[in-house]
Amino acid sequence: MTETIFDKIISKEISSDIIYEDDQYLAFSDINPQAPVHILIIPKKRIPTINDVDKSDAKTIGEMVLIAKKIAKNKQIDKDGYRLVFNCNDHGGQSVFHIHLHLLGGRQLNWPPG
Ligand code: 5GP
Repeated sequence: MTETIFDKIISKEISSDIIYEDDQYLAFSDINPQAPVHILIIPKKRIPTINDVDKSDAKTIGEMVLIAKKIAKNKQIDKDGYRLVFNCNDHGGQSVFHIHLHLLGGRQLNWPPG
């Protein structure tokens, strides 16, 4: 598996605005925010795409959602609402091949997305 920029963020070789960290997960602000709140939640374990997730990763995916929910509450966007997104491969717009959950909020988000 090829290393991505997120491995450098995990190792702190590249600095980021860290919102949450524990031994298995990291959440940090997106460098190119698409909303007032735009945070990426990643597992430290590298899984390239959602296509590579299997049953043994179900806990990881669930815990990423729980971290996102907690951050949304801390950022006080939980009541107004927010969006959680996994982009997968080309048509999904994935550019970094280390799964990440986008947490977007702080403004009205359009649907359907472009
Ligand atoms: P994707 O397009 O793969 O779903 O999302 C990748 C996200 O990572 C993009 O929103 C992009 O702005 C963000 N990103 C890429 N490189 C960096 C970086 O070096 N630092 C941070 N904080 N975010 C990054």
